[in-house]
Amino acid sequence: MKNTTSQTVEIHKAKTSKIDQVDFENLTFGKIFTDHMFVCDYVDGKWQTPKITPYGPMSFDPSARVFHYGQAVFEGMKAYKDDNGDVFLFRPDENYNRINKSAERLAMPEFPEHYFFEGLTTLLQLDNDWIKPGYGNSLYIRPFVIATQPSVSASEANEYRFIIICSPAQAYYSGDVSVLIEEKYSRSANGGFGYAKAAGNYAGQFYPTKLAKEKGYQQIIWTDANTHEYLEEAGTMNVFFRIGDKLITAPVSDRILDGVTRKSLIALAEKQGYDIEVRPIKVEEIIAAAKNGNLNEIFGAGTAAVISPVKAFGYKGEHYELPKQDNPYAAHFKKALMDIQYNKAEDTFGWRYKV
Ligand SMILES: *Cc1c(COP(=O)(O)O)cnc(C)c1O
Repeated sequence: MKNTTSQTVEIHKAKTSKIDQVDFENLTFGKIFTDHMFVCDYVDGKWQTPKITPYGPMSFDPSARVFHYGQAVFEGMKAYKDDNGDVFLFRPDENYNRINKSAERLAMPEFPEHYFFEGLTTLLQLDNDWIKPGYGNSLYIRPFVIATQPSVSASEANEYRFIIICSPAQAYYSGDVSVLIEEKYSRSANGGFGYAKAAGNYAGQFYPTKLAKEKGYQQIIWTDANTHEYLEEAGTMNVFFRIGDKLITAPVSDRILDGVTRKSLIALAEKQGYDIEVRPIKVEEIIAAAKNGNLNEIFGAGTAAVISPVKAFGYKGEHYELPKQDNPYAAHFKKALMDIQYNKAEDTFGWRYKV
């Protein structure tokens, strides 16, 4: 751990820690936050000196543009602690590049790389006790950028705030989920911003997901906006299908988010000699495979849950159950990824980043 006093970041420590009030055995995902946060403002055409301050409410002008036009992008990452107390991030350069790609699409300024990494490592060093060791425990990290400029004029802002907040998380197990293949609504379209991790993409998903829940499904598998014939993402995760022993996932595009978990899983599967195809997947192919008994697995892939197995799906009023597997690919790849994240397996790809 170098850098306890950062060169770049101005540090205002919390007077007392809240950590003793936290029950780390019973955490609800995303509800409790650590003692500190990282804040950096963009004014006068440049990012100002970044600060770490005690976590707490902020005040904004009610006309701040984020409230009116949704100019907001974010990231989701995790810090992991191994049994020696060393802390690791997983491919954080991917998150750094992606938040800037998202920002560019929403006409927001690029955030400097050294601010991002120095801010993040300084914050994690200060709140190190909040990262609990143990397989499955982690600190969920949420960097985000919002348009703060006051004025309801409908154009991109010239003032922004970049913030990082952190929330302790336990192994995330939602149970195997049932999903509905969407026939009417879309989360993204050609030329849109589905590839960006933008707040608005999430806002637009809640209503169709609520309708799916009323039908007994927890999540939606999104199909392409033009034809609803191709499978794209599962809720807010990338999605994989196993037909026979072949693993298939859709290629990323301007409609599909380029997930770190997805691309890591593809790389691992190729290295381990799995039969994996990255290509468009038709709904009818999955229905046919389900009907003739070849559809073995469906699972989502994303940072929060790593891998989220699907137990059943609905399509056009029909319900399809997936067969139980003795050695599911979902469990295999979840363990393979987590072993790298928790420093339990050799990191042949160079994905771990020691804090
Ligand atoms: C965040 C996200 C994912 C998963 O990305 P990871 O980098 O693996 O966490 C997939 N789809 C959408 C729409 C997302 O927002």
